[in-house]
Amino acid sequence: MQGIIEVVCGPMFSGKTEELIRRVRRCQIARQKVQIFKPIIDNRYHATDVVSHNSQSIEAVPVKDAFDLLQRVYDSTRVVAIDEVQFFDENILSVVTKLARRGCRVICAGLDQDYTGKPFGPMPTLLAIADTVNKVHAICTVCGEAASKTYRRPEVKNKNQVLVGETDSYEARCRAHFDYFNEEEELPLMEFLAKTLKVNNLATNV
Ligand SMILES: [Zn+2]
Repeated sequence: MQGIIEVVCGPMFSGKTEELIRRVRRCQIARQKVQIFKPIIDNRYHATDVVSHNSQSIEAVPVKDAFDLLQRVYDSTRVVAIDEVQFFDENILSVVTKLARRGCRVICAGLDQDYTGKPFGPMPTLLAIADTVNKVHAICTVCGEAASKTYRRPEVKNKNQVLVGETDSYEARCRAHFDYFNEEEELPLMEFLAKTLKVNNLATNV
C-alpha cells in the first residue's frame, strides 16, 4: 500500500477538526487500523480526546513531540491522524514523511497562519510536501463571507502566538476584515473622538 500525506488547514472555527474526525470515522468503518495523536500543549476540554468546537470527539493520544509520536505508531497501523499539527516543531516533517514511506495514510489538521497572519510553525513545509491540501474556511464575523484568517480581539493583552483553549479571544475574519493592528476598529473610534472634541470646543467657544 502506498502512503499519502493529507493536510487540512485553515483558521480557527473552520471545521478542520470536524474534517479530520470525518476522515478518521470513514477509515474506522473500513476497519483500517487508525491511531490519532495530538500535541500535549493542547490540553483544552479533555486530555485524550480530539474535540472540535461543535463537541464531536474521538480518542487521541497526547504526545510531547514528533519522535514521541513516531515511537507510539504500531507496525500494523494504516492511518495516522494528527490534530493541531502546527504546534509540533520541524521534526514532524521527517516523521510524517517516514510514516508515508512506510505506507501509512497520514492525515494532518492544523492552523496555517497565526493571529498575525504569519505561517504557523512547520505548516509551510508541510503544505509543500503534502500529497493533498484542503484549505477550509470559516465565516467572517464582520461580513459573513468566507474567512481564511484568525483574528485576535484587541483587548487580549497576551502576545503569545496562541492562547490554548482561549476560543473567546479569537474570531474568524476574511482578508478585508483582518488587520493585525486593528486599524479598522480604531478608525471609527478616532472619528467619534474627533467629533466629541469638536462639539466640546464649540461649546467652550460660545
Ligand atoms: Zn469580512
